[in-house]
Amino acid sequence: MPTGRQVAPPKSTPGLPAEASAKAGAAVKRQRVLSGMRPTGKLHIGNYFGALPNWLKLQADDSNDCYFFVADWHSLTSDYADTSQIAQNSIEVATDFLAAGLNPNKSTIFQQSQILEHAELHLLLSMVTPLGWLERVPTYKEALENIQGKDLHTYGFLGYPVLQAADIVMYGEPNLPLIVPVGEDQVAHVELGREIVRHFNLFCGEFHWSEELRSVPNLMRMTIESLRIPVDFSSLSFPLVDAAWESFERRARARVLESGTSNALELLHRKISESGEPLDLVVMHVKPVLREPGVMLTQTPRVPGTDGRKMSKSYNNSITLGESDAEIRAKTKVMMTDPARKRRNDPGNPDVCPAFDWHKLFSTPEVIERVNRDCRTAAIGCVDCKHVMADALINWIEPIRARRQEYESKPGEVLEILDAGSKKARVVAQSTMARVREAVFGWEKTRSAISAGAATKHNLPSGRHGVKAGE
Ligand code: SF4
Repeated sequence: MPTGRQVAPPKSTPGLPAEASAKAGAAVKRQRVLSGMRPTGKLHIGNYFGALPNWLKLQADDSNDCYFFVADWHSLTSDYADTSQIAQNSIEVATDFLAAGLNPNKSTIFQQSQILEHAELHLLLSMVTPLGWLERVPTYKEALENIQGKDLHTYGFLGYPVLQAADIVMYGEPNLPLIVPVGEDQVAHVELGREIVRHFNLFCGEFHWSEELRSVPNLMRMTIESLRIPVDFSSLSFPLVDAAWESFERRARARVLESGTSNALELLHRKISESGEPLDLVVMHVKPVLREPGVMLTQTPRVPGTDGRKMSKSYNNSITLGESDAEIRAKTKVMMTDPARKRRNDPGNPDVCPAFDWHKLFSTPEVIERVNRDCRTAAIGCVDCKHVMADALINWIEPIRARRQEYESKPGEVLEILDAGSKKARVVAQSTMARVREAVFGWEKTRSAISAGAATKHNLPSGRHGVKAGE
């Protein structure tokens, strides 16, 4: 539910003068922000309030390095049978992004399928993702049970959380936190992405325990306790023999996998610091290949459709960002209100009225307060109330619609913005994949060894850091 009136998008045409743009580019970036949207066609106000106000706030902070994308490959995961509209829908969504206020001089706006590296990372992450993790995703089971008229029994649909994880972590860099703005219902998806990344890092990242643990009992005790490693400390004798050490390493690695490397490091370091013992803090050496993304919980208001159900194009109950005044007036005139209010003299209840939900999005605080009061005493009728709300909606939508019309008349410019953003995003993606490929295959090391003439059967370097699957 909204807590107050939403901030209207900027009135000016997106795009900063070159000087301002240069300044924005020069700002120190504290974090990278990544979010995307499927190209379902022209955005309606429900789509808008589900993401754009939060994206605009993030974009307004120069310390954020924002990447927003059109997730066209994701459309195929459930709609592969008819791809005829995906290209046009992608342009429509990008047009709405720009109309809503996303600024290509401040944010990187790109198209997923132009960055082939997303597909490659999806493939590599799919190799380490247990099938059970995907089958247990609640939205997967719900979709199989409830969605009619689409074949969802495909690998693509089952694996879409892996593609989503690849989309996100592609833009993680070792020294820059990576944040995904999501609503409460999406947190589980990002958490699954984090699990997949942990699994990948454990197999392909550099990871080992300090040899000091083998000979310093106190350090070993604190490590076992802080990470709750299933090893009986009292049965160990120091220095550890190889068999005991290998058993410890295997169980400890499994615990780190469960809790996540960053959590494990934090627990371990806290325990050692609190003990006050003069021990080396570097017990666990970790160099992840991919960065685990963080979640930024965002609030989104309730935006019901004109019939009170969830707003959706397929229910024909939505208002798009390009809707005309006449269409807005016609649709809001027949909009559902408090169903218990049958006659003009009946008092109403704004708390159950979709039209009042829209007042909260578009009207001034004074109007919202007056409607909230007068509806309950029947001092205002629904026809007048919806007319006032339609005025506010038209006032709100007008600058967005004007920018939309401007971009609609220049689709070539929209494509250029998408192409330029994709080119910029691809530079980051290529750098990530160079790191990932080397971690998986170690080809650079192998090639260097061969060129140095050191390639013999016995001295080729190992590319997998000695971690065996299933450990
Ligand atoms: S007066 Fe307004 S808030 Fe009250 S029921 Fe009618 S439309 Fe809804």
